[in-house]
Amino acid sequence: MSDIERLELLTRQMHLEPAEDCYTNPLPSKEKEAIAVHKALMPNGQSIRLLKTLLSSYCENNCAYCPFRSQRDIRRAAFTPDDFARLFTSLYRAGFVEGIFLSSSVFQGAVKTQDLLLDTAAILRRRYQYQGYLHLKIMPGAERDQIEQAMLLSDRLSVNLEAPHAKALGILAPQKDFLSDLIDPLRWIQEIRTEKSPHRAWNGSWPSSTTQFVVGAAGETDLDLLSTTETLHRHTKISRAYYSSFTPYEDTPLENLPPSPHQREFRLYQASYLLRDYGFSVEDLVYQESGNLPQDTDPKFAWAQQHLLHNPLEINTASRSRLLRIPGIGPARADTIVTLRRNNPIKSFNSLRRINAISPTSAPYILINGKYPAQQLRLF
Ligand code: SF4
Repeated sequence: MSDIERLELLTRQMHLEPAEDCYTNPLPSKEKEAIAVHKALMPNGQSIRLLKTLLSSYCENNCAYCPFRSQRDIRRAAFTPDDFARLFTSLYRAGFVEGIFLSSSVFQGAVKTQDLLLDTAAILRRRYQYQGYLHLKIMPGAERDQIEQAMLLSDRLSVNLEAPHAKALGILAPQKDFLSDLIDPLRWIQEIRTEKSPHRAWNGSWPSSTTQFVVGAAGETDLDLLSTTETLHRHTKISRAYYSSFTPYEDTPLENLPPSPHQREFRLYQASYLLRDYGFSVEDLVYQESGNLPQDTDPKFAWAQQHLLHNPLEINTASRSRLLRIPGIGPARADTIVTLRRNNPIKSFNSLRRINAISPTSAPYILINGKYPAQQLRLF
């Protein structure tokens, strides 16, 4: 296989489901049809063309849900760090891609695989002076020294837990140890961030960190997933958790399980933003008896129906954290309200309308001097 054919295969294997934001870039060569590039939003809000790929799809593990498991007969490919770095640099310099998310299957052990990923990153940064975005995957079971090396070279690291606790991981990936292979690396990232100066990091700051869960394959509940997410935010300072709906693949032990509905993934994302950005705790959220979020209701709306419907908030006296509990009011709008009322109390709903803080979503939960905007809403 040529380099381009290998990259085509590996990027296709990374995009297990066709992503809406996947497109091919107009590179003036035959390569333009081959490699899917992901449009990705960076932490600073900028959108870039991100190459998401594996260094290798050869795997020695047998995770029950995974299409790359060793017992599955699929076409596989691998790059050496040198070959990959050279190819990526040519695509980057041609303007085909603006950043990279580099992962790998596990071959010859996690430590060896992590070394290959680190070598690739080091060649990109040092030999080719690559200054772009680099998101590097941490292999389950990587060593602490390797984590620190990865932190010096990357903008973001991810350690995929896959499951919210050891029991569920035993179903999905029995060869991985929940604490030592997965939680420890996330813990080390945060320890290094707090204990060491980032002056040796490639751009003078430490990378962010994320994790990902497979949803709906191991009997885990939303409460399980969100509890672990909350713990990770609190103790390992991850930037965000990703939730990936389970999809069954032929010739895997879980091939007969139904796929997990995307609506569940969507509700989990909504709830996780409430934990991360809105001051909610896992206990605040409303669950069904099953331990899952109601699927037909936005989790913030479900909370407001229980707690604010009969106790609406006075817009002039509610704290910022209480304002954030109102459906339709996010961090930016809550800040604007706090600024607006700093010198003079808000007297009319028109002031709130001007900042788009009144809508059918928020109106039932807001008062000004004991009055609802509901009657006024009928005017527009
Ligand atoms: S999840 Fe990773 S380690 Fe497990 S089989 Fe898939 S590629 Fe291999």
